[in-house]
Amino acid sequence: MFKATLVKGAVVLGLFCTLFTASMMPKASTADANCPNGYVGLTFDDGPNPNNTTNLLNALGQAGLRATMFNLGENAQNIPSLVQDQVAAGMWVGNHSYTHPDMTALSSSQMSSEITQTQQAIQSATGTAPMMFRPPYGATNATLKSILSANGLTEVLWDVDSQDWNSATTTAQIVAAAGMLQNGDVILMHDHPLTTLEAIRQIAQDLKSRGLCSGMISPINGRAVAPEDGTTPPPSTGTKVEAESTTGISARRSTELLYMSTMSSPAV
Ligand SMILES: [Zn+2]
Repeated sequence: MFKATLVKGAVVLGLFCTLFTASMMPKASTADANCPNGYVGLTFDDGPNPNNTTNLLNALGQAGLRATMFNLGENAQNIPSLVQDQVAAGMWVGNHSYTHPDMTALSSSQMSSEITQTQQAIQSATGTAPMMFRPPYGATNATLKSILSANGLTEVLWDVDSQDWNSATTTAQIVAAAGMLQNGDVILMHDHPLTTLEAIRQIAQDLKSRGLCSGMISPINGRAVAPEDGTTPPPSTGTKVEAESTTGISARRSTELLYMSTMSSPAV
């Protein structure tokens, strides 16, 4: 009897592992002929942002790019509709802490709180909790890694820093940084700089010319891989695209500069 239960348990466990592994593995069948040289991971931190996220999603959609948005839990809690918009636009959503602290300066219970509050805010907005965590400033340690592991989260840093958090960095420099990406690499960018927004179209052109596509980040190893559901984002909704007139861009820019000049949120 006991043995039979054990065997049954092992079968159920085996089935569970198979299903679990299958759902986490990128499917080889989705490899895209337009991406002969592989995939790179575009990431945008610190959103969602009421003055920029919609513009960023439109720019990415028009350029045919997909990206991973490392959201702050506090922002996700305040503007859940923008997190829903990110997912609807074909983006992946990660956890970037609740209040953007240096995690290594926190106690383990404070670390846990930053992580779980953000998981809950994003789960509540989208129905799905993130599988990836990017520590603010890239600051990490063994305690954080163990808490991430206990929460089923993979730590994702970056290979290329676009330096877009530095206001001295130009759009051309952000495009040049993206030009260094190789298959599997991840680039750090942010959901607020205008320079980044303006770099999107050129980044798309550069990747295309090099046979690279924007991919998802594997929750297994934090590297960029082929998306499980195709490389192209879903089409943007009409109303959002229509807002992209020349006048709209100037108006948006003034609003955004005003917003950025009053922003106190940390850079990375
Ligand atoms: Zn950040």
